[in-house]
Amino acid sequence: MKLQPFDSDLIHSVAAQHPTPFYLYDEAGMRGAARALQAAFAWAPAFREFFAVKATPNPHILRLLAEEGCGADCSSLPELLLAERAGIVGERLLLTSNNTPAEEFVAARRLGALINLDAVEHLAYLVRHAGLPEFVSFRYNPGPLREGNAIIGRPEEAKFGVTRAQLFEGYAAARAMGVRRFGLHAMIVSNELDPGSVIATARMLFELVAELSARLEITFELVNLGGGIGIPYRPEDAPVDLAAMGVGVRAAYDASFGGTGLTPPALAMECGRVITGPHGYLVATVRHLKTTYKQYAGLDASMANLMRPGMYGAYHHLSVLGKEHAPATQRYDVTGSLCENNDKFAIDRALPPLAPGELVVVHDVGAHGHAMGFNYNGKLRCAELLLREDGDVQLIRRAETIDDYFATIVW
Ligand SMILES: *Cc1c(COP(=O)(O)O)cnc(C)c1O
Repeated sequence: MKLQPFDSDLIHSVAAQHPTPFYLYDEAGMRGAARALQAAFAWAPAFREFFAVKATPNPHILRLLAEEGCGADCSSLPELLLAERAGIVGERLLLTSNNTPAEEFVAARRLGALINLDAVEHLAYLVRHAGLPEFVSFRYNPGPLREGNAIIGRPEEAKFGVTRAQLFEGYAAARAMGVRRFGLHAMIVSNELDPGSVIATARMLFELVAELSARLEITFELVNLGGGIGIPYRPEDAPVDLAAMGVGVRAAYDASFGGTGLTPPALAMECGRVITGPHGYLVATVRHLKTTYKQYAGLDASMANLMRPGMYGAYHHLSVLGKEHAPATQRYDVTGSLCENNDKFAIDRALPPLAPGELVVVHDVGAHGHAMGFNYNGKLRCAELLLREDGDVQLIRRAETIDDYFATIVW
């Protein structure tokens, strides 16, 4: 699996200046991914990618994506404030949260963000706490009408969104309150490698827009297809063909809006993973080897730095620097140092023989990686570094210190 643009020499030179573990992101890769997604929807009027802030909540990354034309999709007050600090405000900002507290609605209204409601019950609450917005969108949960996938689960078991009947009630209520601008949203899958799934979601939403528009006599200006585009975590996986996905969505769009007299809505997505996921690397050092019933390689990083393998059993490819082409003659459980047996980056992974002090690179951690870090067992979150297009390596978040860990304790 490719290390580019990080060759072994570059990573060694970064590791000589910054103690491992650390995350290293590739600016050019992230910009390229944002462009590829936008190119797939170049045919759509005013397509916008609202980058899902939770995937990689760092203002340096939000800013470079904003330069590519991306907005920000936020699901908490701190995420809204982070996007604001990165200069993303107004209708480049989208609030898609759930079980939403009043302060989020207030902040979203102050910032002029588009608001996507997770419940019909939230409409009156929003108006009471934050006033009547001009624009309202609802998150649709198709329930048994659609299958979900492993990460997000089956739609009818998912806490997100509103039912089909509630969409009709919700928009009617919003219209009656004086809302004049409408959007529709769904996010049904996560890490989905089949482009047919996004196309099916698009078709479902376009048909709903037609039906809702006709029944309620309202016009939809925005259809948001959500995020959830997968990335090839395993060497044998292929990336989603975004261009083919765009062609499929276009066919559904034309079928619903071409020559029907309906105003064609703008399209949006709120992807995180496909934009930043492949362009982040976790660099760690082999600390100890241990052999009992199995062979273990203990890294100086742990599940506190990357939760996905422990939480979802997710596969992340590993490279041993300097041994990229060496035969994988050993099998290791590659572990951290948490007192949790699921603190493993890989189980029974075939790797070249390892030695303490060697650098191991964990691939495809640019999204939902550092962001999911935690402090259990007194583990500290590590630094984030960004390889700039000009070759500079910039520290964009320092590592936590013991003082940070103690900062909230009332002694
Ligand atoms: C997590 C999330 C996203 C981004 O998902 P990816 O898998 O990173 O594309 C988008 N929208 C909502 C509402 C989410 O919760």
